[in-house]
Amino acid sequence: HVSVVLFTADLRLYDHPPLRAALDAADAVVPLFVRDRAVEAAGFAAPNRRAFLDGCLADLDASLRERGGRLVVRSGDLVEEVCRVVTEADADEVHMSDGHSAFAVHRERRLRAALESAGRRLFVHDAVTVAVPPGTLTPASSDHFAVFTPYYRHWAQVALRPAGGPPRRVPVPDRVHGEALPAPGAITGASPALPPGGESEARRRVSAYWRRGLDAYDTTHDDLAADATSRLSAHLHFGTLSPVELVHRARRRGGPGAEALVRQLAWRDFHRQVLAARPEAAHADYRTKRDRWRTERTAGPDIEAWREGRTGYPVVDAAMRQLRDEGWMHNRARLLTASFLAKTLYVDWRIGAAHFLHWLVDGDLANNQLNWQWMAGTGTDTRPNRVLNPVTQGKKYDPRGAYVRRWVPELSALPAPAVHEPWKLPGPERAALGYPDPVVALPDGLDRFRRARGRQP
Ligand code: FAD
Repeated sequence: HVSVVLFTADLRLYDHPPLRAALDAADAVVPLFVRDRAVEAAGFAAPNRRAFLDGCLADLDASLRERGGRLVVRSGDLVEEVCRVVTEADADEVHMSDGHSAFAVHRERRLRAALESAGRRLFVHDAVTVAVPPGTLTPASSDHFAVFTPYYRHWAQVALRPAGGPPRRVPVPDRVHGEALPAPGAITGASPALPPGGESEARRRVSAYWRRGLDAYDTTHDDLAADATSRLSAHLHFGTLSPVELVHRARRRGGPGAEALVRQLAWRDFHRQVLAARPEAAHADYRTKRDRWRTERTAGPDIEAWREGRTGYPVVDAAMRQLRDEGWMHNRARLLTASFLAKTLYVDWRIGAAHFLHWLVDGDLANNQLNWQWMAGTGTDTRPNRVLNPVTQGKKYDPRGAYVRRWVPELSALPAPAVHEPWKLPGPERAALGYPDPVVALPDGLDRFRRARGRQP
């Protein structure tokens, strides 16, 4: 008896219900990953995520080999490849975890139909890529929660399944062949300071963060220079960490830091259940549909300045440069750069979301698109007309200016608070910086969105 475990966004051996079920059901399993041509054609496999993914696959293969197995990798149409492997291995069933985007749901439906017509079975396991799956919690009047606070009250009451350890042995039948794994670092266009992918790295990072970081998370998470968040987002996106296991571990630790982290993990599930119920929110306004956004045609130079980190607003530019260099950006920086593009420059949020998705190693359809909508005032935010002032934000969340000086070398000699307002320096001093003038004057920029929405500033 053979079963296939199809790995998707769950590239780990710890706490992996599909793998556990496959091992329980069969004498041998085929651990399979398919590089899905459709994902690559859609542009979702950007260089940073491809590089990180290669690290995840290499690490997964190494861990399987330690247990007597190996990872089978194929490329092509996922459904066709799975069916081919099932035939080669003469497998009876396939186990995988649930996905929640329109793409994932459609793909799962196709796979089920193809397997069933060949007399094979597909088992889809939930609570693998999320702690609380979409559809578990629904308010009385709708199919999903649109407001986080009541969602979180219910989410916190859900009894999570226990987290499992890794299997001791993963026996693989000989007759199935896969592609060679690519050599690490072979991808062009990736960020120079990209973190490595893989479950081993994920577990090291959790241990390190639990030792020094987690207990202070509630007070340090908004401090840009302290860089004191967990940086687990890419691992959660690729599933090298189990969200269920993380919530259990944080709850066991207890205290305000761990509680605040659990709340952020609930945000992940919150956006998933919104996207699962409203798949079109990946590209269309979730709520407001009345904005006449500026676009590439009407705001091309402003958009380019934002992308390249030369808007003349130091904290915005620091953040945009960090994104390119590391493939990651601090949450506070994501909020203020998104507000700057969508509200201060009044540019279509989809343009910003696409740029983020190109660079972010944690780039995730639900988290990215819905956080963008939240900040653009088209999504689930309960204060959709709020505009973040980039100078005030800089002074508040980077009070010593260390974050700006780290990423904007032109300003590295300036003390705070001058570093947040270089245009206030005397003419010659300012000219010597070689740093651009603001792309838009603030009162104008801050009012543009409110005027466009027909509100008094
Ligand atoms: P921590 O602060 O340590 O939080 C722990 C985990 O909680 C994160 O790894 C993440 O999985 C989850 N989390 C935290 N904040 C949020 C949030 N607001 N929404 C959903 N989950 C959250 N996150 C992504 O994972 N992928 C994205 O593509 C993405 N795009 C974003 C775009 C914008 C405009 C904004 C404002 C936020 C976006 N976020 C995204 C959410 C958040 O900024 C990142 O998850 C976080 O900065 C990752 O760093 P960390 O792991 O150190 O987070």
